[in-house]
Amino acid sequence: MRPAELLHRLRQRTSGAHPDGGATSPVTHVERVPARAGRPAPWPSWTPATLRDALAERGITAPWEHQAAAAELAHAGTHVVLATGTASGKSLAYQLPALTALLDDQRATVLYLSPTKALAADQLRAITRLGLDGVRPATYDGDTPREEREWIRQHSRFVLTNPDMLHHALLPGHARWGVFLRRLTYVVIDECHTYRGVFGSHVAHVLRRLRRAAAQYGSRPTFVLASATSGDPADTASRLTGLPVEAVTEDASPRGAVTFALWEPPLLPPDPGAVSVPWGGEDVDVELPPVRRSALREAADLLTDAVVAGTRTLAFVRSRRGAEVVAAMARRALDEAEPGLGARVAAYRGGYLREDRRAIERALLSGELLALASTNALELGVDLVGLDAVLICGYPGTRASLWQQAGRAGRSGGEALAVLVARDDPLDTYLVHHPEALFGRPVEATVLDPTNPYVLGPQLCCAASEAALTPDDLELFGGRPAQEAVAALTDAGTLRRRPSGWYWTHRGRPDVDLRGTGGAPIAVVESATGRLLGMVDPASAHLQLHTGAVHLHQGVSYVVDELDLDDAVALVHAAEPDFSTHARDVTTLSVAEVRAYVDAGPVGLFLGDVDVTSQVVSYQRRRIGTGEVIDTRPLDLPVRELRTVAVWFTISPQELAAAGVATADVPGALHAAEHAAIGLLPLMATCDRWDIGGLSTANHADTEAPTVFVYDGHPGGAGFAERAYGTAAAWLRATRAAIASCGCESGCPSCVQSPKCGNGNNPLAKDAAVALLDAVLGALPDPADPGILPN
Ligand SMILES: [Zn+2]
Ligand SMILES: [Zn+2]
Repeated sequence: MRPAELLHRLRQRTSGAHPDGGATSPVTHVERVPARAGRPAPWPSWTPATLRDALAERGITAPWEHQAAAAELAHAGTHVVLATGTASGKSLAYQLPALTALLDDQRATVLYLSPTKALAADQLRAITRLGLDGVRPATYDGDTPREEREWIRQHSRFVLTNPDMLHHALLPGHARWGVFLRRLTYVVIDECHTYRGVFGSHVAHVLRRLRRAAAQYGSRPTFVLASATSGDPADTASRLTGLPVEAVTEDASPRGAVTFALWEPPLLPPDPGAVSVPWGGEDVDVELPPVRRSALREAADLLTDAVVAGTRTLAFVRSRRGAEVVAAMARRALDEAEPGLGARVAAYRGGYLREDRRAIERALLSGELLALASTNALELGVDLVGLDAVLICGYPGTRASLWQQAGRAGRSGGEALAVLVARDDPLDTYLVHHPEALFGRPVEATVLDPTNPYVLGPQLCCAASEAALTPDDLELFGGRPAQEAVAALTDAGTLRRRPSGWYWTHRGRPDVDLRGTGGAPIAVVESATGRLLGMVDPASAHLQLHTGAVHLHQGVSYVVDELDLDDAVALVHAAEPDFSTHARDVTTLSVAEVRAYVDAGPVGLFLGDVDVTSQVVSYQRRRIGTGEVIDTRPLDLPVRELRTVAVWFTISPQELAAAGVATADVPGALHAAEHAAIGLLPLMATCDRWDIGGLSTANHADTEAPTVFVYDGHPGGAGFAERAYGTAAAWLRATRAAIASCGCESGCPSCVQSPKCGNGNNPLAKDAAVALLDAVLGALPDPADPGILPN
């Protein structure tokens, strides 16, 4: 069945089932992404014949244009980032110059960094299969046996590792890597968009330490980076490496045609009435939240119809439980339609054994199974492509993941259908109404902030422990912020100034965790078995892991028995109660320093350092489905203090009145705008709403005006607020559009309600928030904006 027909059929069936009788279509947009013929390029003239032959044997007869362009730049010694789509063949772009260097110069070496061991193993297989003499590729990570390490240091010329290993092993032991470092020609950084936020800021300094170590042994390697498509890849790559980097972004690889539909589940008829609940010592009326038909339910129906139509379909669902639920609902509906048909649908998720997963994939490819509900594209086998349809249940957070999932659809030569089903979330709402944000030029940028003092200080200690820091080094590590940090470390006695530089004074090495975000991470441990389920950073632990909290971990639901902050452990047991929990916190914020501002008359826009004090004081339990409040329970958790970076805007009360916002609605308007703005920030910067916090108030002591603050949730900042400041008009315009285009009456989770609100989503004023944002946008100049998001 052709995609257009299938889409037509899906639309008919589901709209017939809508409570409003199908007056409005759930399909908000259909984009036909045409097939693209690949544009091959000749091999660069310098490609050795042995390499060309080896690649030809693997079926690669010519590079695509973008691969050749990036390879040429790298070969000429220009640092380059290749930012193109998934499956566009980014590996060849760095393999060409890197392997050429190894073949041409029998002493040259290459260092390859990947964020995961699995990816490094995959690359190792690819390089090994080429069978090139003398390259001796090897992975060097935590799993590498001790007896092999020495051989790798001495003999491997293509070492595949990860930033953690570089930080913990290679750089501290640089003397043993002297030969390798002296001949280092290329550094390849794969999937560099994963180095974002605080982790990315740490990695940026690890790379500066690598550059310094290489220079000490006499080499200046060329950096080749591979990234998912994103906004400003050259700028991000440059922040990451500290070097000027050129970007290649034009994708010349072939792809099949895809019809991409955006789908918004309809609002359900409102539940009558409000309920009265005790809240902070008094009874308040709580409106039951209006709800959309759930994205899971909608996806299950679409999956059912696709199977009835005989279409091979893959549904991506964000949680494991969700994947099971979608598969179960579809199976039940199919068996009702035709007994036995349900057996052709299966769930597929990360927890299954590898063999089981491969067996399920084979059944889908052979046609024995017609549909799968799966958790994550990355867990699927690479050959599982060429399906008729892909359903994406909820925006997966980044465009890179979206296209990775949609990319599973499309037989060669044929056409495929992809459907994004919106969840009730402001970002999803915005995207299904603003297809240009998905199909136009990307705006989300990978952000990091190497000047974060909480990253810079520890990293300078690491550098000093590897070799004394010189004044020149301080330029490498960021100039003035590095000088200030070194001065403070010297005053504290951590570093010692000698004529030849700054020395690390302690015996051992500095204890620095690249993934640390201030304080020890909290271990989530299953009480009965002692099994470690994962680590959660301490900032989120108070909100998400307080005693009694229902905590989702990789899609499985747990209830917290006890949060023990002294031992940094949360004891949990698996359970699926019929309620959810919502922590309430009390937050205050003070402005420490303004870094930059825009004076726009009645409106002000600011970027600066702030001190945030917050305390989680209680939590509500709410019935799943109805949202009915069961009870509110007190918590005894300590106050947390956070020095971080914030973006904020102010608007004068007169201007608000002129915009038609009644005084009584000002707090609700600000609060609603704050929630939606936080929800939309991932459109501009790769982050999720848990990375960011917010505060709004009708009169703030430091600004003396109605103010909305949005701050980085990590000590010292991670670059999110800075990006928000730099793209403020586009960001707030998208925020306004997300609220205005939501069809709900007075605010819902698709627009202004937040799942992490510390105030029980109260007060919120949806219409007044739109008026407020109109007034702000009317006053703000629009200079530094990428200007990509039209209203
Ligand atoms: Zn809404
Ligand atoms: Zn809130």
